[in-house]
This record gives sequence, structure tokens and C-alpha cells, in this order.
Amino acid sequence: MNKNTLLYAGKAKSVYTTDDDALLVLEFRDDTSAFDGKKKEALARKGRVNNQFNAFIMEKLADAGIPTHFVKLLSPHEALVKNLKMLPVECVVRNRAAGSLVRRLGVEEGLALNPPVFEFFLKNDALSDPMINDAHIISFGWATEEQIAGMKALTLAVNDVLTKLFDDGEMILVDYKLEFGVIDGQLVLGDEFSPDGCRLWDKKTLEKLDKDRFRQDLGNVIEAYEEVGRRIGVTFN
Ligand code: ADP
Ligand code: UDP
Repeated sequence: MNKNTLLYAGKAKSVYTTDDDALLVLEFRDDTSAFDGKKKEALARKGRVNNQFNAFIMEKLADAGIPTHFVKLLSPHEALVKNLKMLPVECVVRNRAAGSLVRRLGVEEGLALNPPVFEFFLKNDALSDPMINDAHIISFGWATEEQIAGMKALTLAVNDVLTKLFDDGEMILVDYKLEFGVIDGQLVLGDEFSPDGCRLWDKKTLEKLDKDRFRQDLGNVIEAYEEVGRRIGVTFN
């Protein structure tokens, strides 16, 4: 599959057209950012680690009946995906309190959330991805009522699969962010699932094994991503 013109260069990935309008190439770069792009660094191996990690997760989710954009790995740092019309919202599920929930509500980090908390954020760096609700999404036309219900159901279905997968690897899936898009009228999971977009803690020590290592300057960021992958059975090339 030919990688043609650059369609979009995001903060961590670049998106290329292919000879087939229905397919895109996602190139996972080493660029790493946090705080709406204000903290930036290139971390060696990150692109290839996240691409292969994401491929493994997308295949697990597809096996569990979740529709995903993932088609196949093209190289250690590139994947072929379905060309989705992305919905401009981020879906976050939280099993434990952390990050912006702790800052917003003043609850203790690590507090177990039962049932898990679902939140929508608007994908807009200039506005620092503000939290939004169903009414905003409908009023501003960011998604339909049916797509909202679909995103909630699929994001929670992903939680069942991944909570178990990480638990088997002696980790707690604290929270994560998903993005969805539409192709031929069907809602499909897009973007990526990697330690860049979730929080994972070691079950016993509560050591952070995700992007918080970068946000909080804890060091050994990619080593931690690789450790997470190793524990769940990802093979890195
Ligand atoms: P950001 O846009 O937040 O800087 P990235 O660097 O990860 O994020 O860029 C990847 C971009 O590609 C994102 O905007 C994401 O919504 C988009 N994207 C992910 N998967 C698909 C897909 N299957 N079809 C079209 N766009 C996609
Ligand atoms: N997240 C993400 N991209 C974003 C915002 C959040 O991947 O633009 C992920 C983040 O890594 C965490 C979860 O979504 O796993 C919840 O993030 P939170 O709202 O706590 O924001 P943060 O404090 O991480 O900015």
C-alpha cells in the first residue's frame, strides 16, 4: 500500500493518504507531548512501541466484537487503518480517580469509582480540551444522540476487555481516552490505545507505568511502556 500525501501532522502521529480513499497510514512518531502540547520531547522508540502496542490492543478488541479502524501493521512504526470521519470528542472512562478528576473534584488519587465514571471532552487544544456533556454535543452538532449512546456503550465494553487484560498483567487500568469515527454510517473505534492515552499502575506497588512518567518527570518512560507490553504479551520489533 503506497503512503501518499501527508494529510495531517498531529502531536504524536502523522496521517497519510493511500491509493485507496478508504484507507490511511498512521505513522507513530517519537514526539511526545503533554499539557495541551506545552511540554514536548522526542522519546527514542516511542513511535514503534506505541504502534505495536496499539496493534495488539486493537486486535484484542476486535476479537471481543468491538469495531475498530485497525487493518494491519505496515512497519514497526506504521499502521494501515480505515479512513474515518472522526467525531471531535474524547471519551474518557475512569476506574480510579486521577488527573483532572482529582483536580476538579478534590477527591483522593486512587479512589475506586464504582460504577466507572464516563466523561466527554471536546477535542480542541486551543480551548484545553474542555469537559462537555451530551447536551453540548447535540446542540453543537458534534455527534448524534445515537452516536453518543454508541460511544458510551463501546467505551464501557472496551473497559471490560482491558480491565481484565491489564489485571492479568498485575496492573490497574486507572483511566483511558478513546476517539471514535464514522465510516459507512458505522461508529468505529479510531486513533490509538497505548500508555500515552491511559493510566496504568502496578497492582502491588502502585507505580505509574504510563504517560504520567513523562508528565511528572519520573524517567524511564518508554522502558515502562515496554514493561506494560511485555506483561500483557506484546512482542516488540
Ligand atoms: P492530535 O490530533 O491530538 O495531535 P495525533 O498526533 O495522535 O493527535 O494525531 C492523529 C490524528 O489522526 C488525530 O487527530 C486523530 O483524531 C486522527 N485519526 C486517528 N485515527 C483516524 C482514522 N482512522 N481516520 C482518520 N483520522 C484518524
Ligand atoms: N487523555 C488523553 N488525551 C487527552 C486528555 C486525556 O489521552 O487529550 C487521557 C489521559 O492520559 C488519561 C485520561 O485520558 O489517561 C484522563 O485524563 P484526564 O482528564 O485526567 O486529564 P490529564 O490530567 O491527564 O490531562
